[in-house]
This record gives sequence, C-alpha cells and structure tokens, in this order.
Amino acid sequence: MAGRNALFIPGPTNIPDHIRSAVDLSMEDMRAPDFPEFTLPLFQDLKKIFKTETGQVFLFPGSGTGGWEAAITNTLSPGDKVLISRFGQFSHLWVDMLERFKLDVDCIDVEWGEGVPVEEFAKRLEADTNKEIKAVFACHNETATGVTSDIAGIRKALDAADHPAMLYVDGVSSIASIDFCMDEWGVDLAVSGSQKGFMLPTGLAIVAVSQKALEARHTAQHTRCFFDFEDMIKTNAQGYFPYTPATTLLRGLRASVDTLLGEGLDNVFARHNRMAEGVRRAVTEGWGLDLCAKEPKWYSDTVSAICVPEGFDSAEVVRHAYYEYNISLGVGLSKVAGKVFRIGHLGSLNETMLLGVLGGVEMTLRDLGIPVEAGSGVAQAVDYYRTTRGQALAAAAE
Ligand SMILES: *Cc1c(COP(=O)(O)O)cnc(C)c1O
Repeated sequence: MAGRNALFIPGPTNIPDHIRSAVDLSMEDMRAPDFPEFTLPLFQDLKKIFKTETGQVFLFPGSGTGGWEAAITNTLSPGDKVLISRFGQFSHLWVDMLERFKLDVDCIDVEWGEGVPVEEFAKRLEADTNKEIKAVFACHNETATGVTSDIAGIRKALDAADHPAMLYVDGVSSIASIDFCMDEWGVDLAVSGSQKGFMLPTGLAIVAVSQKALEARHTAQHTRCFFDFEDMIKTNAQGYFPYTPATTLLRGLRASVDTLLGEGLDNVFARHNRMAEGVRRAVTEGWGLDLCAKEPKWYSDTVSAICVPEGFDSAEVVRHAYYEYNISLGVGLSKVAGKVFRIGHLGSLNETMLLGVLGGVEMTLRDLGIPVEAGSGVAQAVDYYRTTRGQALAAAAE
C-alpha cells in the first residue's frame, strides 16, 4: 500500500527521524575508557524526566514488564502483603505477576473504565494498624481502558494513615507524556519502558528507585539475577553495566531525553493533553460514541479507548482500518475485547497526524455501518486544534 502505515497504537509510538538516526549506529565498545562520559550524564538527566533528585534510575535491557519484575524482586519477599487494584489488562497483568512471585495480594477489582479506588485504599491502609502491607501498587495510566489514576491521592492516603508501605507505580504509558512527580508523590519504584513516551524502539526497561526502595534490597528475599539492582549499582557508579548494555538504545535515549527536555516537560504534557482533547471531542461530540473511561477525571492524555455501539465488533474496526486504510489502532484487550478500540496519542504527534487517523477511523466506522456522520469527528478536532493553537504556542514560548 502506498504511503506510510499510520501507527496509532499506544506503544510502540512514532519515532522522530532524529531519534531514529541516533539509534542507527555501529556497535561500540561498552568498556571504552570514555564510555562513562556518555552514561553518567545520561543517568543524571533521566532523573529529570521522573522528577526525582534523590532516586536512582536503572536501565535494563528488556521491556516494561521486565521493569515490573525488577521492582518486585529487588524489594520484596515471598509472602509479603501487597495492595493493588485491577481495572484493565495492564493492572491485571501486574496482579498476575505479583501472584506468580508468591506475594500475598489484596486486589481490589473495580469496573474497567475507572481507576485506582483511592478511598478504598485509604480505608485498607487505616485498618492495617499492624502495618502488614509492605507495598501499594498502582497503574498510573491503564493503557487498556484509557484511564489515568491519582497517584498523589495514594500518597496522601499513605501519609494520612502514617503507613510505611512503599509505593510502586506502573508509568509505562504515562512517564514522559503525562506529568509524573516521583519525589513529590513519594513514589518508591517507578517503571517505564523505551517504546512509549520515550519515542524509542522497544528494548529498555527504565526503572526509577527511591533511597527507601534501594535500602529494601538488603532484606528482600526474592531471587534475582539479571535484574539485580546490586550489580547495576556497583557498575553504574563507574558508568558501566554488569552485562552488555543496549548501546544503540542508550544513544537513542540520550536523543530522546534531550528532545523531551528541549521541548520542556510542561510543554510535552500540555501537547499531549491538547492532542488527546481533540480526539475526545471527535469521539464524544462528533461521533456521539462513549469513551471507556467513565468520568472526565479518569481521561488519559496518552490513549483513548472508544466503545463501539452494541451489536458491533471493535476488533472488526481495528482489522478494517488496518487492511483498508493502513492505520494501526489498538484492539480491545481481554474483558473489553470486541467492545473498545483504542487510539494511542502519545509520543511524537501533531494535529495533522491525528486529523488523518480520525478521518481514517470515520471512513472505517461508516464502512462497517456504524452510524457516524462523515466529517463529524474531524470537524470537532479541527476547530479544537485550530482555536487552541495560538494559546498553546504562546504558553510553550514562555
Ligand atoms: C505497555 C505497558 C506495559 C507493558 O510494557 P511492555 O514494554 O510491553 O513489557 C505495562 N504497563 C502499561 C501501563 C503499559 O502501557
């Protein structure tokens, strides 16, 4: 098919050309005497993305899932009591991993389309007077349903209960796209990956760890080897790694971090919010469809999960868009399979890219007999993007 595939899944995301060039390199010597001149500043600058001054960032070959495993095995022991809630495929998978690692999991199931039940968490933490809960887990941005949760609220609940549990946050589809304040929110383990907000190929697990969580490695009884923080700490201190690092991805990460900090994190977040809002208006006001996210407070700025009307199959929407129009959309996962399709709007995106995908989705919906007016969603997004652009540019220039 002529033209490019329009990649609108919520990760991997579109890679800017200069970042693609940055990873298109010959292999290099990861034990070269000047390698630390590259790695040490990179470790430092990554902290700015997580908004942590006191934490340490580790880079493992792997993906976000490997980052979860690193967070768990380095800081917890089998049988430890942990609190989590499940409201989508990614929070579900984290629960599954906790169970496989034999943790004592207290999982609060909430409806898919809602987020972390902060008040329920607060009650459990208050009730835990013996402080048996060792860790609280939260998926910041549930990519399956397009729901963003209130991590600051969880910190408040922990503090209100004067509870020492550590806070673990899955930020794979939020960090570098939606505001994330590791130190301010008292996050102990923050997990991300290279292929979403960082706009890189898949292949890195990026894990930020607080001093408290680093201390926990001395008592954590889980077996770990490849993901051992200890080995990373020792070698990273000199600017090296315990095994062969993914040097091309690290070079790409340098370009990514420079790009994010160059745009300014606040501008990056504002851009994502604006891109997302245009999509939401197209969906709700233009097409008259519902988002999977139940309330505006849950709306995700990185992905929108869109419900198809009763009697239609969302998998067919994704399939048709792919084969007819060369657009990649996110499918509905597990509980919402067949019910929602997803438009990822994170990473390197602008207005016209989104207008393109919205137009393609409109054609798809109409082809399949889903009653939407031609141009209805695009018109909403056009006017929203057009009328908010000046303000956005002015704010970015400040
Ligand atoms: C993508 C994603 C993951 C899984 O990351 P992988 O890189 O695929 O292992 C975990 N959590 C969330 C919220 C995600 O979006």
